[in-house]
Amino acid sequence: MRRCALPVLFAVTFPNLFALAAPPATKPIRRPKLILAIAVDQFRYDYTTRFRERYTGGLAAMLSEGAVFIDAHQDHFPTVTATGHATFLTGSVPATSGIIGNEWYDRASGKTISSVEDASTTLVGVEGNKEGSSPHNLVVSTLGDEMKMSHRGTSKVIGISMKDRAAILPSGRMADAAYWLDGESGAVVSSTWYQQQLPAYVRSFNDEKTALKSLGVAWYPLGQEKSGTPFMTLPTAPGKAYMSKWEETPYANDMLEELAERVMHDEHMGQGNGTDLLTISFSANDHLGHAVGPDAPEVEDMSVRTDRVLGKLLAAAVKQAGGRENVLIVLTADHGVSPVPEVNMQRKMPGGRMDKADYLAKVEAALEAKFGEGKWIIATQESGFYFDRDLIAQKKVKESAVEDEAAAAAMKMPYVARTYTRTQLLRHDAMQSQIDEYVARSFYPERGPDVIVIMKPYYLFGKSGTSHGSPYDYDSHVPLLFWGGNVKHVVSTKLVGISDVAPTLAAILQVETPSGNVGHILGDVAAPYLEQRSGSNEAKH
Ligand SMILES: [Zn+2]
Repeated sequence: MRRCALPVLFAVTFPNLFALAAPPATKPIRRPKLILAIAVDQFRYDYTTRFRERYTGGLAAMLSEGAVFIDAHQDHFPTVTATGHATFLTGSVPATSGIIGNEWYDRASGKTISSVEDASTTLVGVEGNKEGSSPHNLVVSTLGDEMKMSHRGTSKVIGISMKDRAAILPSGRMADAAYWLDGESGAVVSSTWYQQQLPAYVRSFNDEKTALKSLGVAWYPLGQEKSGTPFMTLPTAPGKAYMSKWEETPYANDMLEELAERVMHDEHMGQGNGTDLLTISFSANDHLGHAVGPDAPEVEDMSVRTDRVLGKLLAAAVKQAGGRENVLIVLTADHGVSPVPEVNMQRKMPGGRMDKADYLAKVEAALEAKFGEGKWIIATQESGFYFDRDLIAQKKVKESAVEDEAAAAAMKMPYVARTYTRTQLLRHDAMQSQIDEYVARSFYPERGPDVIVIMKPYYLFGKSGTSHGSPYDYDSHVPLLFWGGNVKHVVSTKLVGISDVAPTLAAILQVETPSGNVGHILGDVAAPYLEQRSGSNEAKH
């Protein structure tokens, strides 16, 4: 009260003087109270166009009312879950974030490790002191970390997914929690990186055993529940076999959506004085897609059901935050997927299946012929090689000579498109093509292989199903949709990267951009938020 007395007196006595001395009052930007950052694992861009007529839920709303970027790419190599999810909210590239793949060879321990495995943590939520997961390999900040460090009110940051890496990497190192599913019991778990025990509401969610509610259930195409043939019938006994099939069904996404609602509600997200961030990654689309490929009717059915479950999620978020104006939704995918080689060959398209053992044996044989006996290739990542450096030292050969020989041997395979050696990549030679750039953006010297090999389009390892990881559009081209709050409907044809999401959200929230950011602010999305402030300023003059 006393603090106000003097200015009030001045204002009354010398109104004009006061008006000159005081800066014009600035109406604060109306920031979103709740951000949902959604990734649908393996959701190709063309799923937003091929099945558009059948969408009536969340995807329909985002496509018809939101900001739609039709040429958005995960512009790195390999295009896999960990790299895509790390890029999503760091705005970074694998070469800087350190997340170069789902797995890589760790020279210190002499074994291949996952992007999020962390022996110093324990799994929370299941019995038996199992090793936990954490973002300790992520060496840059996420949007959530920047929100936490910004002193702009209190922000809750939580990540959820069926996969640990997809819950952990988008939410970041300072996240309040990340939750994922135990692959055996279907229980929601976390790790001691975040907390020593699950909160009561997650424990009671686990008591409901939602994952096991589909034991023996048959998944029918939508609208054919009575007359049709089921896509699959789930096993009747719980366990790993059940879980691995259940993960391929829409029921897994349904459970994740229920968990998202529970987290938002019980954490009071969107109701505090800051902005809260929930990252959600739906994994069932990826598990299914690997098994049946993008042309299968199951994928269409799954996509239509994804649209429905997203509709439920959007409605819950709007209710939770007290109105659509308080919510900002961004949706993308971590990568796309290649057609099944047999399907492609039948329609006169190129590609095929490669035999990994034969591929490695031929490169190994070339190295032995040139440099002498020994096991030269110590590990692989995607189609790239790591060499045994002790053997190289023992044989007194140059590392670059071994790299060149292996690269030359790989190039003799009919399905290899191009190679990159560690020596080449460390020199940062001028890159000529888009694929060169994708590779350069992804080479992290401590973790990357000694030779990176890019296959020709549509070639895959593995005897059945399909996969992703290539730098080609079917793997890199993904949806990018923003909806809610001040977002205006626009369809942008601009070529954008998924690394553009984090700086755009940082601009809207007026927080620092994440440390490894290489993306650009998407003006189509951010401008209405920023204009809101300048508009209110002008009104005062
Ligand atoms: Zn996958």
